[in-house]
Amino acid sequence: MDIIWFRNDLRVSDNQTLKIACERQNIFGVYCFDPRFFERNAFGFKRTEKFRAKFLIETVNALRASLKQLNISLLVYHEKPEEILPRLVRLHKSKTIYLQKEWTRDEKIIYNTVKSKVGPQTTFEEVYDQFLVHPDEVPYDTVNAIPNVFTQFRKKVESEMNIRRPVSRPDPLPYNNLIANDTHIPNLKALGLQDFGTDVRTAFPFKGGENEANRRMQYYLWDSKNLSKYKKTRNGLVGPDYSSKLSAWLANGSLSARTLYWEVARYEREIEKNESTYWLIFELLWRDYFKYIALKYGDKIFRIDGILNRTYNWKRSAKIQEQWVTGTTKKPFVDANMKEIARTGWMSNRGRQNVASYWAKSMHQDWRVGAAYFESMLIDYDVHSNWCNWMYTSGVGNDPRDRIFNIERQAKIYDPQGRFQNLWLQERLF
Ligand SMILES: Cc1cc2nc3c(=O)[nH]c(=O)nc-3n(C[C@H](O)[C@H](O)[C@H](O)COP(=O)(O)OP(=O)(O)OC[C@H]3O[C@@H](n4cnc5c(N)ncnc54)[C@H](O)[C@@H]3O)c2cc1C
Repeated sequence: MDIIWFRNDLRVSDNQTLKIACERQNIFGVYCFDPRFFERNAFGFKRTEKFRAKFLIETVNALRASLKQLNISLLVYHEKPEEILPRLVRLHKSKTIYLQKEWTRDEKIIYNTVKSKVGPQTTFEEVYDQFLVHPDEVPYDTVNAIPNVFTQFRKKVESEMNIRRPVSRPDPLPYNNLIANDTHIPNLKALGLQDFGTDVRTAFPFKGGENEANRRMQYYLWDSKNLSKYKKTRNGLVGPDYSSKLSAWLANGSLSARTLYWEVARYEREIEKNESTYWLIFELLWRDYFKYIALKYGDKIFRIDGILNRTYNWKRSAKIQEQWVTGTTKKPFVDANMKEIARTGWMSNRGRQNVASYWAKSMHQDWRVGAAYFESMLIDYDVHSNWCNWMYTSGVGNDPRDRIFNIERQAKIYDPQGRFQNLWLQERLF
């Protein structure tokens, strides 16, 4: 029996890997909560904190239920893939492992270790399935030709925009495809994390799973028609409506970028097409762009000199780090945002840009510490978006202008009445 190894493609709709695997029949799925992703990183933060861990547990639960409807078992482990997969391959005489292709450092190391341990009798079918614009359709001959300036990339891609249609959910396999499954999805405690309640001030109470992603898309586009005003609201800071909040599902692949793209296209046909509908796709192109930058530069996105090989006099102060992380820098706009991420695992795009600029550009602190903290906390952590946005803000990535934010000015423009800052800084009320 063959295997689908799920990682950041936790959905059954528009899942190319699943579709291909189902055409061959006799398959089961595997998902590993890899203990390494819950350990502390080199900067002292847990690689996955409770917010994303909870979202992931919900997502895997939902995936298991959806796969069951297709008569596909999902075996879930809290072990390293290189320990589980060779065992399963031997037991089920698997000839093929199907998976979504990943290209960042840790994912590649794990993949290569699994490959070396299962032996040459098993082939791996890897599919690029997390882009909006598939690498076969991106208008560059090689990944090295991807420009270092986003606008150049965007204009060329837009002039030849070719987005694949989502593939449908596979038909159910015969009932006897299901196999015995006594594996359990770990809870937060088993992952070394504490359970928690939702902070009442949260901008959005995220819940994992493909159905929840669809529900949010339905609300943001069709029920509220917030999409029609996205360009005006997207720099907001308070509440669920200022932006789509789809990032967490996009990041772990419980929603595909293609599905969102085609839903926006339908909205443009059936409701209206305006600069806001365009802007959401524009942002999805940023997401793709950073995936291509990570593909082009490999491990450089994690290095202190970044993709520009640019050296700065980076500092490391435990005191400044403590103040930043706890939201006690005495810069109210920074503090409010840092309290928000600490309590909810969420921060708006405007907030992220400001606290990152403060950390790297105003305080000259090693930008990788900031990126590692975000990796730990963010509910929507995505390796490419996080590390490339941090490089961008820190002057070692794709920002040709190498800007620094004036935090007080930003607060005046984006939080003129102090509503956001009051929400997070008046702790005694909560
Ligand atoms: C320092 C820093 C770190 C970041 N880390 C992450 C991360 O780990 N994961 C992540 O998904 N985004 C990250 N972003 C990008 C952005 O802040 C979030 O994607 C966005 O705030 C998510 O909210 P939304 O879904 O409501 O976005 P919307 O404004 O509704 O945008 C729609 C989608 O477009 C994509 N998108 C929007 N802005 C960006 C951007 N700047 N870069 C890449 N994709 C974008 C996201 O997939 C998002 O869901 C980071 C930005 C900064 C400045």
